[in-house]
Amino acid sequence: MRKSLHIKLVLIMVLLIVSLMVVVGAFLMNSVTGYYIDEFYSQIIGAFSQDNDFIRDLRTATEEKEDGAAMVELLDAYAGILGVDRRNRNFYVLDGTTGRCLGGSAPEPEGGVAVTPNISSALLGQPGVDSSVTADYMDAAIPITRGGQPYIVYILDNRETARSLNGEMFSLIMEALVLGLIISVLLSFLLSKTMVTPLQRLSDGIEEVARGDFSRKLEVTSGDEIGQLTESFNAMAQQLESTIAAVENERNKLDTLFLHMADGVVAFDREQRMIHVNPAAARLLGRTFTQEDRYEELFGDLFTFQQAEAADGHLAGSRTVDGRYLELLLAPFARANQGGVLVLIHDVTEQREAEQMRKDFVANVSHELRTPLTNIRSYAETLDDGVGDLPPEMERKFLGVILNESDRMAHILQDLLTLSRFDSGRSELRLTWFPFAKAVDDTYQAILMDAQNHSHTVELAMPDFLPQVRADRERVMQVMMNIVSNAIKYTPDGGHIVISAGLAKDRVWMEVDDNGIGIPQEDRDRIFERFYRVDKARSRQSGGTGLGLSIAQEIMLRHEGSLYLVDKDEPGLTICMELPIQGPREVPAHVE
Ligand code: ADP
Repeated sequence: MRKSLHIKLVLIMVLLIVSLMVVVGAFLMNSVTGYYIDEFYSQIIGAFSQDNDFIRDLRTATEEKEDGAAMVELLDAYAGILGVDRRNRNFYVLDGTTGRCLGGSAPEPEGGVAVTPNISSALLGQPGVDSSVTADYMDAAIPITRGGQPYIVYILDNRETARSLNGEMFSLIMEALVLGLIISVLLSFLLSKTMVTPLQRLSDGIEEVARGDFSRKLEVTSGDEIGQLTESFNAMAQQLESTIAAVENERNKLDTLFLHMADGVVAFDREQRMIHVNPAAARLLGRTFTQEDRYEELFGDLFTFQQAEAADGHLAGSRTVDGRYLELLLAPFARANQGGVLVLIHDVTEQREAEQMRKDFVANVSHELRTPLTNIRSYAETLDDGVGDLPPEMERKFLGVILNESDRMAHILQDLLTLSRFDSGRSELRLTWFPFAKAVDDTYQAILMDAQNHSHTVELAMPDFLPQVRADRERVMQVMMNIVSNAIKYTPDGGHIVISAGLAKDRVWMEVDDNGIGIPQEDRDRIFERFYRVDKARSRQSGGTGLGLSIAQEIMLRHEGSLYLVDKDEPGLTICMELPIQGPREVPAHVE
């Protein structure tokens, strides 16, 4: 930039100087010629217009000499007033009728004196005192009558004086031009220093900003336009830096969001090329992505790219991948120049399952309540139909069934209420410190009779010392009773049940092992679900609701403990409950 601007400056200066010199030179040279011509004619007209001795002598003829020669002599004497120098300016005396040269201050030119317009006008009796600026001579022809004869005094100037003056002026102007050019080159260097250097600095600064380096602040060295430009540039660079920082910040936020969000996002450009994908998308779609992946092969089965791009809002589709339900939303983004399609992948498996569970639950509750209700109704109808006809023991039996079924309904409703309290968080734990071993022993004592009724042998294995635990004793006992009575229920008579308890780090545990019917492998994961029973008939027969283990697990979770099945090879089932000694840390508890 420095070079071109410098050259431009030199060129401008040269042009200025040259044009100035041309104008001044032309004007001066023209003025000199004009002045010379004016001077010539005013001198001639002055000399011939006055009625002085010169004119009188010129007109008066004498006897001694021939008029032509006398006139030449006279004019020679008066050469001074006519400015005749005999070199560049000469006079001639011409015959007034023929124009023939009779003599002069110089010998007659070869071929005679040329008849100029001035001579022609003098031949007609009119003085010829006119000359063109462009002609290379100037002349004057004055008709004079002497002794009755017409003569012409002709003065011819070859303008050599004016020409040589102009020549000198020309060489002067050329010298001035050369000097001017040298000065202009020097000046342009000076100007380039004061103008080009700050511009160069500005240009360097702009290049650095373009490279993304905003750290350099340009020094403002003058208050002129360049200084103002530098100031504006500094302000602009600062503004740009903060805008870019803000944009960067936003992008980082979005990147983080994009990286860690649970929903998958895949973006495509207008050529259907994949331009962005987050880890969640790869996880949900169960595949890895490469730059070569294109829209059509990934989502073309849902909507064509054109459909997705033209969508008003978004298009919704769904897909199942590895047993998970995915909801896909396709939306176009930034339609202007750049743009494309964004695909949002949302895993709705949990919602679907929750929805299914809710439906199953409602169906189960209705079913569970309808069975005892049908029983109650049919026995009550039979009683009603046969009032007075039925034997009293039959009536008592029927009433016994009605009471049993009502108890069962009440039992189910009670369990449901308990679960609902847990679900809504309304059930508070009454935490107290109590000896864990005592609770296990109480459970053992409580079921002993029932176990004996089924001819089971029950073994209790506990270390001598078990610490106190902080928990809701009543609810913990409920869980213990539930799993031990399940062992009694689901073990054919004469079975063997082992209740053991112990301490593991900061937790206490109780395990119940039986050699009963056990649970088939495919059902093991589901027995903590509400109303789930492996053998419905058997469960109902023994008064089960299918809610016991769900409630037990809820209670354990509330205590930050756990309830789980233990793998074993022998027939039967082993189930274990664990409690933290210190009790739950987070659940708001009602402490007595
Ligand atoms: P229920 O009231 O039916 O006993 P639970 O929630 O206590 O309900 O138990 C759920 C299901 O788990 C039972 O219906 C039964 O099929 C199975 N189950 C529980 N404990 C045992 C066990 N010790 N042996 C075999 N099956 C069991």
